[in-house]
Amino acid sequence: MNETASLRARAEIDLAALRANVRVLRERAAGAQLMAVLKSDAYGHGAVPCARAAREAGAAWLGTATPQEAFALRAAGLDGRIMCWLWTPGGPWREAIEADVDVSVSGMWALREVVAAAAAAGRPARIQLKADTGLGRNGCQPVDWPELVAEARAAERTGRVRVTGLWSHFACADEPGHPSIAAQLGVFRDMVAYAEKEGVEPEVRHMANSPATLTLPESHFDLVRTGIAMYGVSPSPELGEPADFGLRPVMTLAASLALVKDVPAGHGISYGHHYTTPAGTTLGLVPVGYADGVPRHASGRGPVLVDGKVRTVAGRVAMDQFVVDLGGDRPEPGADAVLFGPGDRGEPSVEDWAVAAGTIGYEIVTRIGARVPRVYV
Ligand code: PLP
Repeated sequence: MNETASLRARAEIDLAALRANVRVLRERAAGAQLMAVLKSDAYGHGAVPCARAAREAGAAWLGTATPQEAFALRAAGLDGRIMCWLWTPGGPWREAIEADVDVSVSGMWALREVVAAAAAAGRPARIQLKADTGLGRNGCQPVDWPELVAEARAAERTGRVRVTGLWSHFACADEPGHPSIAAQLGVFRDMVAYAEKEGVEPEVRHMANSPATLTLPESHFDLVRTGIAMYGVSPSPELGEPADFGLRPVMTLAASLALVKDVPAGHGISYGHHYTTPAGTTLGLVPVGYADGVPRHASGRGPVLVDGKVRTVAGRVAMDQFVVDLGGDRPEPGADAVLFGPGDRGEPSVEDWAVAAGTIGYEIVTRIGARVPRVYV
């Protein structure tokens, strides 16, 4: 048995697929730069290896939510442009300035803190003003934009900041034709035009996430920010399969069967006995559970490839394990149970698990736990 096969469970990360996906997305974005979105440990794929692979494939920017995620990339030796956008009062602005990280500013408290940090650091901060064009989450409301722009321009004149970007985020780009898409684009254009009229000269204007990169060329501006599509997962069922866009899934989640045993008819399986064997059968014990990110909501529904056939989780997913009914087949203990992957062996997809758990592919891959080693292939 080779080393990976002896692991209880493993998430194989196909960096060649990630590089190929980045190239596909860059072609889609024709002319715009690409930011590889690496927040939350690259959606569970491992931030540093994915960042390196994305850079190799031509990602000009790396993007994270938290400043700490950005600093970890710098500490691993990743140079070039990095941006992070999720700030709270008292955040590490000065460290960001010293690490040459672009920071997002959504309102006046953040602008004041970053200006003070730039004064303390003795060098200008690179800030990107975020507009709430309709997502209703982070970002500056149109009504507050003139004040934010005026203060940012004043800080530029004192040399404390340089406004490198104007940006926003879509609410419904994964629902083609949703009326909010055109509305947000219109608001963004107006807010950009206003800031530029006031003298802001951004290096980049950007709005597009993966679904917008794939389907809305008019949203590409100077830069697209791609996360989920780079990992080869569909942003939503409405948009179709990853393969429809030439994207290949990057993560394969597999475990080694811990036990194979025969049981009689009427045997209750796992907590609560929500599955009872209809006939004498063989059970396989798959040693991953919700602590590893296998969603408990997929109990009785999640699909797994074992011994050449797709089986269904029998009964509840527990913290560390679940059971499949092998219907009389008898693979050896240690045989692969593949929960999802690119499908080359007939295994289910991330999207199948998202349906089984009533969630989205983003959540399936992002929640794969730290206990599951990432194996880079
Ligand atoms: N930009 C921002 C601000 C985000 O929060 C995210 C992730 O949700 C992305 C871009 C990437 O989105 P997606 O994974 O749909 O490409």
